[in-house]
Amino acid sequence: MHILTFDIEEWYHLYDHPKRFLTSQKNSHGFSLVKETNRIFRLLEEKNLKATFFWVGEEAQKYPLLVKELNKCGHEVGVHSLSHSKISRENQKMFKTNTEIAVKTIEDIIGVKVKSYRAPAFSLTNESLWALEVLTDLGIEYDNSTVVRKNLGGQIIPSTPFIIKNKDIMMKEFPVNSFSLFGFNYKYGGSGYFRVAPYKFLNPRLISSPYLMSYFHPRDFDKSIHRKIGPNPLLKLKYRLGTQRAFRNLETLSKDILWTSIRDAAKKVNWDKTKIIEV
Ligand SMILES: [Zn+2]
Repeated sequence: MHILTFDIEEWYHLYDHPKRFLTSQKNSHGFSLVKETNRIFRLLEEKNLKATFFWVGEEAQKYPLLVKELNKCGHEVGVHSLSHSKISRENQKMFKTNTEIAVKTIEDIIGVKVKSYRAPAFSLTNESLWALEVLTDLGIEYDNSTVVRKNLGGQIIPSTPFIIKNKDIMMKEFPVNSFSLFGFNYKYGGSGYFRVAPYKFLNPRLISSPYLMSYFHPRDFDKSIHRKIGPNPLLKLKYRLGTQRAFRNLETLSKDILWTSIRDAAKKVNWDKTKIIEV
């Protein structure tokens, strides 16, 4: 099962600080979100592949035609928060208000129920398990906010789809892959990890993985990202590394992997026999 996902968010969300930029700075660097999302879209059309596009609600408000087009062409449109705040930055009430606005915004655009959710930075933690109840209330069926091998509620996240049980909530969960490297969870299926890893090392691992959750952002393919992120040389290096070859590598992988969306993958999972992790 190989799943392809994209977090459709503006380049400045790479900073974990929602108020870091003035509006004028945010708008001063062109529209790489639209340009890169269109490039991804054309590639998927050409290869006849489907994916899940997790939209940040504020971005969906800005680019409704793009959201609509993706849905019309058979891709799944999921939700990735309202303004890219980690769950831990909000209390339950704020999380509910903001996520509801994001879900409704997207549903109004596409006319279809939104069923998949991903927390910014995979930020579902022991302290924010209440988010599962909020998501269930909003009609979310598939969550993608956990990382394989991480500890959640005293349980280790498995490397296949599973069900999280929290009180009376049962949420279908698609974790993002990781392996341990020097004690660090290396989320090898996408984004920066994909950009910097030697392709010859990563490629066979991705292709042979029985379960793969790949995830990218428009900025992962934006070669001009270094001009946008200010003078900090370390950040420039971190976000620029591998952008030159990332899209080419995605194209190559698209020949070898029959990627699909979460919505379509969920139909192939036997949920009655799936592992239940109680947290
Ligand atoms: Zn994100």
